[in-house]
Amino acid sequence: MKTIRTFSDYIATVIPGKVRKISVNAGLGCPNRDGTVGSGGCIFCNNDAFCPRYTRGLQGITQQIEEGIRFTANKGRADAFLVYFQSYSNTYGPTGKLVRLYEEALAVPGVAGLVIATRPDCLAPDLLDYFERRFGRLAPAGHPFLLVELGMESTLDRTLEFINRGHDHACSVTAANALSERGIAVGAHLILGLPGESESDWIGHAHRISSMPVTTLKLHQLQVIRGTALERMYAEDPGIVSLPTAEEYAASVRRFVAALRDGIYLDRFVSETPRDMVVAPSWGLKPSEFQKLL
Ligand code: SF4
Repeated sequence: MKTIRTFSDYIATVIPGKVRKISVNAGLGCPNRDGTVGSGGCIFCNNDAFCPRYTRGLQGITQQIEEGIRFTANKGRADAFLVYFQSYSNTYGPTGKLVRLYEEALAVPGVAGLVIATRPDCLAPDLLDYFERRFGRLAPAGHPFLLVELGMESTLDRTLEFINRGHDHACSVTAANALSERGIAVGAHLILGLPGESESDWIGHAHRISSMPVTTLKLHQLQVIRGTALERMYAEDPGIVSLPTAEEYAASVRRFVAALRDGIYLDRFVSETPRDMVVAPSWGLKPSEFQKLL
């Protein structure tokens, strides 16, 4: 089996010392919910499932970072922090407003860079120019770090259509190329197990992701989350999703990783959703426990 290189291994190549990620909720919206691209959102999405509880009720980015640093203090010493713009689409909005949010985060002492999660169809040309000047090819030496994590979810257009994603795979390719050409690291996010996909489709994802300028890859198992369209579909027809055991999923992930280009760092393999929000599957495994299984 090939050696798995993790997100921490990657960060060690770009930021010295011990680095801890702090998630924030910038309160930005989603074009797949507000009618710009679509309405109702992706069938699997309930943002409460991946919004850290410590960010709720906190308005300012600075306040959230300070609270996040306190909240995660039990994780040990940290020499630097990466601020993770996690909830919704974090490049969606007027560029001036987005830049102010990013710069507010960068101004907090100890913050060495940003990880910005977004949709591939939310990268305005002037925002890409800012990324290039501030973090990329045109940035001065010693500039802060940036990784843009693109929610691709699947590389199959029929799946993207079924899950009401509102963009196709070509859009993901265009976004990854646009970022990479400007010297910005690209992360990809995929969900394994979306309705209608088999393991051979997952291997196809591995090949297509391998042909893209992707530095990090985050995998999630499909989960049926409360309050989503998928929950309603699952209640009507449980056969709409196939729910592997943790062991079966681990075996498939091993084959997926074997098909992946060397040099892609793996960020995670499973999602960590609060148990009370998950309808199925209920593995009850922490990411570190799953990694041992893997
Ligand atoms: S997963 Fe992302 S793009 Fe889809 S509805 Fe949720 S916030 Fe919007």
